Amino acid sequence: MGRIIGIDLGTTNSVAAIIEAGTTRVVENQEGSRLTPSVVAISKSGERLVGVLAKRQAVTNPHNTIFSVKRLIGRRFSDPEVQKAKQTLPYQIRESENGGVEVKMNDRWYRPEEISAMVLQKIKIDVSEKLGEEIKEAVITCPAYFDDSQRSATKVAGEIAGLEVKRLLPEPTAAALAYGLDKNINAKILVYDFGGGTFDISILEVGDQVIETRGVGGDTFLGGDDFDQRIMEFLIDWFKREEGIDLRGDALALQRLKESAERAKQELSTLFETEINLPFITSTPSGPKHFYYKLTRSQLEDLTRDLVERSISLVKQTLSEVNLKPEDIDEIILVGGQTRMPLIQEEVKKLFGKEPRKDINPDEVVAIGAAIQAGILQGEVREILLLDVVPLTLSIETLGGVAHPMIPKNTPIPYSKKEIFTTAEDNQTVVEIHVTQGERPLAQDNKTLARFLLDGIPPAPRGMPKIEVSFDIDQNGILTVTAIDQATQRSQSVKITNSVNLSKEEVERLKREAEEYATQDSEKRRLAEARNQADNLIYQSRKIINDFKDRINDELKSEIEAKIRQLEDVKNNSTRAEEIEAKIKEVNDLLSNIGRNFYQGQQNN
Ligand code: ADP
Ligand code: MG
Repeated sequence: MGRIIGIDLGTTNSVAAIIEAGTTRVVENQEGSRLTPSVVAISKSGERLVGVLAKRQAVTNPHNTIFSVKRLIGRRFSDPEVQKAKQTLPYQIRESENGGVEVKMNDRWYRPEEISAMVLQKIKIDVSEKLGEEIKEAVITCPAYFDDSQRSATKVAGEIAGLEVKRLLPEPTAAALAYGLDKNINAKILVYDFGGGTFDISILEVGDQVIETRGVGGDTFLGGDDFDQRIMEFLIDWFKREEGIDLRGDALALQRLKESAERAKQELSTLFETEINLPFITSTPSGPKHFYYKLTRSQLEDLTRDLVERSISLVKQTLSEVNLKPEDIDEIILVGGQTRMPLIQEEVKKLFGKEPRKDINPDEVVAIGAAIQAGILQGEVREILLLDVVPLTLSIETLGGVAHPMIPKNTPIPYSKKEIFTTAEDNQTVVEIHVTQGERPLAQDNKTLARFLLDGIPPAPRGMPKIEVSFDIDQNGILTVTAIDQATQRSQSVKITNSVNLSKEEVERLKREAEEYATQDSEKRRLAEARNQADNLIYQSRKIINDFKDRINDELKSEIEAKIRQLEDVKNNSTRAEEIEAKIKEVNDLLSNIGRNFYQGQQNN
């Protein structure tokens, strides 16, 4: 058996981890980072970018950069979450033929599964290269609240990327596994997960080596991005007051400001003060403008305190929904990069009166749990039973439009249930099986997961035919519904991948396409990306020098010009990406030095 990797396919960042010699290890990507932004783009020069390279050009290429696609995966277009996301996401989103969602990048429309597959494919390739063996199998995590359709779509994304998904694991369960909390006896665990775009709360209960999800809550539109946004708005307003210039219309300035705002936020988790230094942020008829601001931790806290408070009140709400009080919770686990913020850690501690667990990197803990699950599947780690529950009741519509529950909410999975139904009218030869999900008593008020017909029932008085309906939900939470006419043994079945999801043929086709892409030598791809970046930088630096030629002294000017020429030279002649990347760094460093001097010069005048 090959190696199975654990993947946290996040809204904002994705992480891969493995079990090696009995311990877990996060595997770095090709760029040398432990996190891969879940961002895909087609660059202005037509190349496909995945990860940090795609993220870096997001603001200047907003229509062809897809991020947060996890908000859309496996959902119907009419879903309120999709409608809400549509208002905030800068790329185009439309309804697919079967009522699902498609997003546009360049001139082509993609299913969310395809976009997630591009992220997964990068991870697959990067890990395979790093480990020197081809990775074909994975455990992938998804939020605890994902329904059948979202889980199936996540699995399909893995398949398109050429990964056999051995298991879909709920993120909070993965976090609990990473902390070894499965070994506790009768503990209640609260997972507080503040990611980039979503805030998720899960309450788990461990007993007898079984982890069960008791309840979930949170806000799918509250995340670290909101903190960045607050900082950005604050900085833009400040600049407007100081300089009378509104940066809101300047995409390039916004991109740089956004990156700096996020970096400043992250630095303020460990420092009390940080600099936001953006030379040449914009130009005016009177010359270039530079951006320089010292932001303190307490300023950041003032700007974002209400976001933290909101998360705390959501925790209280979720606790009360499952009739628990803060003191009933034995362990609190912090997950998600945003929980590195000291204010969040303090507020969580205050609420529960005890220290939350945070010793495993919060943005890696889910991937580590996935790797442990992979280890269990490979037999490297002692087997434990992992229980996940059905989040919403699964029913079948019966006479009078009633939703007849087949699998009640919170039933641990895997699970199977069979029941006999019959016809409602004399000589009825066809029955319609309507499968719904939700807690409302009438089928029409719940979400339709599938409808299918079983025909060929021999004519008989109503109530005579015996139609056996079975619901089988597997360990990944994927439901198969089968109806059999006991007289004829005719049967029909559907795997609930929901009408929103892709057909088997489509999946196969997309998988082939992805494979073709993967065969592109990855070194070549990195080279293309480095060249592309170099091109942008050369253009940008020349523009800066030209725009501000009278303000930069000759010595510096010739230094930077020489560096740009060197960059151009390696870009055109070198076939080694590292070489180009090193030069890019030199040019960047020099540019920011110039900016700093420039700024200081201005201040001294
Ligand atoms: P997701 O689960 O949504 O993919 P992550 O768990 O990777 O996301 O969290 C990403 C968020 O965490 C981003 O908003 C990022 O800025 C934030 N973050 C990362 N490191 C820090 C830090 N040191 N301090 C504050 N926030 C951080
Ligand atoms: Mg996450």
